[in-house]
Amino acid sequence: MLEKDDEYRDTEDREEIEKKKEDRKTETMEKNKKESSETKSDEYEKICYMCRRPESKAGKMISMPGNICICSDCMQKTFDSLQNNTGMQYSDLMKLSNMNFFNLSNSQDEIPSRQKIKKKKPKEEKEKKPSFDIKSIPAPHKIKEKLDDYVVGQEHAKKVISVAVYNHYKRVANANKNGEVEIEKSNMLMIGPTGSGKTYLVKTLAKLLDVPLAITDATSLTEAGYIGDDIESVVSKLLAAADNDVEKAERGIIFIDEIDKIAKKKNTHNRDVSGESVQQGMLKLLEGSDVEVPVGANSKNAMVPLVTVNTSNILFICGGAFPELEEIIKERLTKQSLMGFRGELKDKYDKDKNLIQKVIIEDLRNFGMIPEFLGRLPIIYTLDALDKDMLIRVLKEPKNAILKQYEKLLAMDEVQLKFDEGALEAIAEKALKKDTGARALRAIIEEFMLDIMYEIPKDDNIGRVTVTREYIENTGGPIIEMRGMFTIEQKQAQG
Ligand code: ADP
Repeated sequence: MLEKDDEYRDTEDREEIEKKKEDRKTETMEKNKKESSETKSDEYEKICYMCRRPESKAGKMISMPGNICICSDCMQKTFDSLQNNTGMQYSDLMKLSNMNFFNLSNSQDEIPSRQKIKKKKPKEEKEKKPSFDIKSIPAPHKIKEKLDDYVVGQEHAKKVISVAVYNHYKRVANANKNGEVEIEKSNMLMIGPTGSGKTYLVKTLAKLLDVPLAITDATSLTEAGYIGDDIESVVSKLLAAADNDVEKAERGIIFIDEIDKIAKKKNTHNRDVSGESVQQGMLKLLEGSDVEVPVGANSKNAMVPLVTVNTSNILFICGGAFPELEEIIKERLTKQSLMGFRGELKDKYDKDKNLIQKVIIEDLRNFGMIPEFLGRLPIIYTLDALDKDMLIRVLKEPKNAILKQYEKLLAMDEVQLKFDEGALEAIAEKALKKDTGARALRAIIEEFMLDIMYEIPKDDNIGRVTVTREYIENTGGPIIEMRGMFTIEQKQAQG
């Protein structure tokens, strides 16, 4: 009996020891978790629970239990209003009551991570390691060389953009030196038809330079207070692209597409909230100013933290197709030549393919862009519409060319994919008919590649597929060769 008692005690003791061990383990785990979350949260700014301003703006925060921070202004206001018992807003009272009566620990999760703001680095650190060293900016010819790997043709545009970007980042590197000649900002206006590579050029550029990029459509913008996105939302987007790192965003690139859609509306009696007003509203952004933008949202409302971003070192690139611009240029040129009594034919410019390259500021003003807006886009250049040869080159030459992508996909199944010249021409001809430039290429290729990608993996013996003009034009099929056959053929060719 005694022995049994001892045994019981023994097992009880063991259980207790095990339990203690377990407790200690969970305790250390929790501690580690807390520490790691603290170090993580160290990277982000504290945000006032009431006014939602970050610490860098509102000043030192008063920390409260449950990871709540209140700025001294809000704290003072709360005390004042409590003291006077008047003037306190309902929403503030609600927040206070929340704080007092509900579980405070829940509120630490209230700021979603996409709305958190990264802390700015201390000044000394910044001075030690400049974010943009002038020596690290690649020379214009190097930038163009890299662009050549991806963008086909558009030689002039690539040259202009390379020089402009080089100058822009030199200006950024030089920005803090006072008393020197101030270099003007090199914002750009890109004019070119749909699918000529405007967006692609900017995207490639941002990738090469490793700077954040935001792409917005001008059609979605309206004057503040109207339905649509505020103009400042473009900066908000850039901030998101820079992981809410203000410093990084401040040297990013903003591309505003479809800029021709915010031309001044003609013959309108209403307020032009999505045209001229947007141009007006963009002036200060383009020039460079401090703008207060919401973090992680499109509109400023009471619950979204705000942060100040300076736009003077942000490179703005505007792009548009400007569809009726050619007519305006033609009209001007015809008028000029008639006035000069040069006896030139009236329809001389009708067949001029490069008419768009002759654009001048006056034409853009006639199109509906306001002079102040154009004045802030000093670099204007055009992109050519892609012809058949260029479309074929787009198919096969860029580093990430669509044909190369399909070849790689099939190579994973050890199948060789080939396109004969006729097929490439047929694809380009089809794309030209759609009138959407290189954009049409992907859709056409995807349509006929679907069957190939579906059927080929069915049969392990297939070694090579050749796409022909007949297949593209729906009058025949691709040439399929079996593994054995085509290796014999290859050997014979080699022999
Ligand atoms: P847009 O001028 O309308 O902005 P995009 O830049 O969006 O045209 O072009 C659509 C697609 O066509 C790009 O993603 C790219 O793959 C291809 N593309 C267009 N132009 C070129 C070009 N010059 N070189 C290589 N690819 C191009």
